[in-house]
Amino acid sequence: MLSPFMHGEVTQVEPIAERMRRIRISGPELRDLDWVPGMHIRLRVCDPRRPGTWLRGFLRTYSIWDYSAEGHLDMCILDHPAAGPGALWSRRAHVGDVAVFMRPEGRFVLRQDAPYHLFTGDETAAVAFGAMLRALSPSAIVHGVILADRPGDQLPLARSDRLTWVYRPDELPDAVLSLDFPGEPGVAYVAGEARTCQAVRGHLVNERGWSRRDVVVKPFWAPGRRGMD
Ligand SMILES: Cc1cc2nc3c(=O)[nH]c(=O)nc-3n(C[C@H](O)[C@H](O)[C@H](O)COP(=O)(O)OP(=O)(O)OC[C@H]3O[C@@H](n4cnc5c(N)ncnc54)[C@H](O)[C@@H]3O)c2cc1C
Repeated sequence: MLSPFMHGEVTQVEPIAERMRRIRISGPELRDLDWVPGMHIRLRVCDPRRPGTWLRGFLRTYSIWDYSAEGHLDMCILDHPAAGPGALWSRRAHVGDVAVFMRPEGRFVLRQDAPYHLFTGDETAAVAFGAMLRALSPSAIVHGVILADRPGDQLPLARSDRLTWVYRPDELPDAVLSLDFPGEPGVAYVAGEARTCQAVRGHLVNERGWSRRDVVVKPFWAPGRRGMD
C-alpha cells in the first residue's frame, strides 16, 4: 500500500518569537506540492525507531508558515507549558533530523472575494494568519486581533498596522467586541483555542448578524485534550 507519509530533513531551527520555533523541512519530496496559504500538515512526532508509536495519536497538526515549491516548508511551533509530544518534538528538533508528515491539506484558507478580512485567534492561529496575510492583495481590507501571553509572542506578520495584539487575562471575544470594523459582514477567520473560537463565532453571528457562512472557524487546541485536527 502506498504510504500517506512524506519525508524531509530538518534544515533550519530558529526562534521566531520568545516561545515559538520556526522549523524548516526540506527535501525533493517537498517540490511542487499543492499548497494554499492557511493549509497545514500533520507531522509524526513519535520516535521513528519505535513502530508502536506510529499511531494517529502521535500526529500533530501544524500550519504552514511559508512554502517554497523548490522544496521546503516552514512551521512555527509554540512551546506551551503543558508540552505534549508536539511541543517536545519542536524542543528537540535539530538540523539533520528526519521529518515525517502528510501532504498539505485543509480548508482554513482565504476567500479572496471578501469585502474585508477579519483575523481573530491566538498565537498558534497567527502562524496560519501569517501565510494568509502575505497572500492577500495589497488592496484587500484587513482587520484583526490576536491574543497571546505577552508581547514576546508576537510573530512578524504582514499588514501588522491593521492587527491588534492583546494579552491574557484579556479575552478574545471582548477584544473583538471593542475592535473597530465595518457594520456589514466581511469574512472572519477564527482559529486557536476551541471554546474561544465558538465564543467569537457566537458574537459575530448572534450579536453582529453575520451568517455562519461568513465565519471560517478552525479549532487548533483545547485544554485537557491531546492532539486535534
Ligand atoms: C489545523 C491546525 C493547525 C495548527 N497549527 C499550529 C501551529 O501553527 N503552531 C502550533 O504551535 N500549534 C498548532 N496547532 C496545534 C498543534 O496541533 C498541537 O495541538 C499543539 O502543538 C499541542 O500539541 P502537544 O503535543 O504539545 O500537546 P498535546 O498532547 O496535544 O496537549 C497537551 C495539553 O497541552 C495543552 N495545550 C495544547 N496546546 C496549547 C496551547 N497552544 N497553549 C496552551 N496549552 C496548550 C492542553 O491542555 C492539552 O491538553 C494546530 C492545530 C490544528 C488543528
